[in-house]
Amino acid sequence: MLPESITSVTDILMRFPAVGRRSSQRIALQILEQSDTEFDHLIEQLQKMKQSVTFCPTCSFFSQNNLECDICRDHSRSVLQICILEKGTDVIALEKSLSYHGRYQVLSRLISPLDNIFADNTNLPQLFTRIENIVDKIRQGQVTSRSPLPYLELIFFLQPSFNAEATLAYVREKIQDKGWSEFVRLSKLAQGLPSFYNVDTLDQETLSKSIEGRIAIS
Ligand SMILES: [Zn+2]
Repeated sequence: MLPESITSVTDILMRFPAVGRRSSQRIALQILEQSDTEFDHLIEQLQKMKQSVTFCPTCSFFSQNNLECDICRDHSRSVLQICILEKGTDVIALEKSLSYHGRYQVLSRLISPLDNIFADNTNLPQLFTRIENIVDKIRQGQVTSRSPLPYLELIFFLQPSFNAEATLAYVREKIQDKGWSEFVRLSKLAQGLPSFYNVDTLDQETLSKSIEGRIAIS
């Protein structure tokens, strides 16, 4: 019924999460109705986003032009808490809870020996560099905290899976091998991320409770 080019755009838009055929067709038709100026502006902004958005050199969350992300630059956030997540979108989900005031580490991938994905294929080396720096600062008395002996808390927020367990086991082993155990504690959220979730509908209250009720795992 509709010209093929509209159907093609509709099909592409449908590949985005939470966009069904109806809404993707509506977006396609809306784009068609835009003035040339509006359309050019849209294309320009999409290109700009694609070219300028990079990953934070510290935590691998989304950033711009290879600079540190807003979260890493926010000095009001505790340097003694790093929440470990798989994807950048998981950060957005947790930020919505408004209950977490530490830093993040996005791993991009989890260790998966069956798929030949090992620690070096993930962002774990980046995490270990950060841990080493913080442990050095704690040792040198450069970090102040409310507890008499400051320690770094690594909070795992991963969807339960074999790969999540393998990743956690690797981090735990590395911390022991490096002699950081005295200064690093591991915990996980009372409830992991659901297998399928939509950032927009993730229940904030459940997340808040899950952060407050986190469980020590070492
Ligand atoms: Zn960052």
